[in-house]
Amino acid sequence: MKKNLLVLFSILLIASMALSACGGGSAPADDTKLVGISMPTKTSTRWISDGESMVKVFEEMGYSTDLQFADDDIPNQLAQIENMITKGADVLVIAAIDGTTLSDVLQQAKDAGVLVIAYDRLISKTANVDYYATFDNFGVGVIMGTQIETGLDLKNAEGPFNIELFGGSPDDTNAFYFYDGAMSVLQPYIDSGKLVVQSGQMGMDKVGTLRWDGIVAQARMDNLLSAYYTDKRVDAVLSPYDGLSIGILSSLKGVGYGSADQPMPVVTGQDAEVASVKSIIAGEQTYTVFKDTRELAKQTAAMVDAALKGEEVPINDTKTYDNGVKIVPSYLLIPYSVDITNYEELLIGSGYITADQLK
Ligand code: BGC
Repeated sequence: MKKNLLVLFSILLIASMALSACGGGSAPADDTKLVGISMPTKTSTRWISDGESMVKVFEEMGYSTDLQFADDDIPNQLAQIENMITKGADVLVIAAIDGTTLSDVLQQAKDAGVLVIAYDRLISKTANVDYYATFDNFGVGVIMGTQIETGLDLKNAEGPFNIELFGGSPDDTNAFYFYDGAMSVLQPYIDSGKLVVQSGQMGMDKVGTLRWDGIVAQARMDNLLSAYYTDKRVDAVLSPYDGLSIGILSSLKGVGYGSADQPMPVVTGQDAEVASVKSIIAGEQTYTVFKDTRELAKQTAAMVDAALKGEEVPINDTKTYDNGVKIVPSYLLIPYSVDITNYEELLIGSGYITADQLK
């Protein structure tokens, strides 16, 4: 008897589903908006957190999402974005691998009426980017320069100190803002001779690190140490990303830095990645920069939501981010300096990293 009822119920259910599929049912039209989220890579944990936070925030707001990671491969990212447009995405949130390569695919997006947000990294050479959600990138660089100034006590110490400089990926405009911000603090000390770049390698064309690749940074540090530092000590290394810092630190350890008679130089970083926070606790990396990706995800979702509803979109910068075709209206969040004295409060206290992850 029970079984018969179940069969009857199933038949009714299938019939009603068939009816609504034919348009005859009373199910409401699905007007859920789709947000395509295109992240560059999974090799850095920050982008995984960015992606996951956005899925969470957008879904809580009633959007559906399609999150893709492009393995740092440009054609892959282009194909993923095209696919999102084909699937009917209403919004694209893109952290570009190379900010200059998206013009064609964003023309398709524009033609399909898709809202486009540049996420953390500026998208250049196209008018078809509506807003930019990021951090104060020049400010990130200023933090790094100031960390070196503080770490070496440049205001008071006599010096001279030796420093080497690393830049981020030259196809990411952020890399230039980070470098310029840092140099706004460091250049006067270089000019006065208190800081000496023994290699003479300065400027993004000489110190850039394609695709933010830690292995490339490690190899360059190996070369710098063997070419310029066999009889000298390097006192500081400007590194704009934790993944590079880890490579640079391996290279330094390889030639004996990190011991009582040859302490580690001051080494900066960015993103407060778990491996680097552990390294800070171990007394190896000196600093990192914390950019709360949860806040960036929230800010992005707020901008998207306002734009789609025709409301005023929250932005706080309309001057800085010229992408070669237009100035992209932006929202800049605040970055924070992290070291051994405040990582617990800033990172664990805010729940960004758990104490367990640092064990
Ligand atoms: C981001 C940094 C990150 C770097 C490497 C930049 O665009 O702003 O936070 O360290 O990419 O992934």
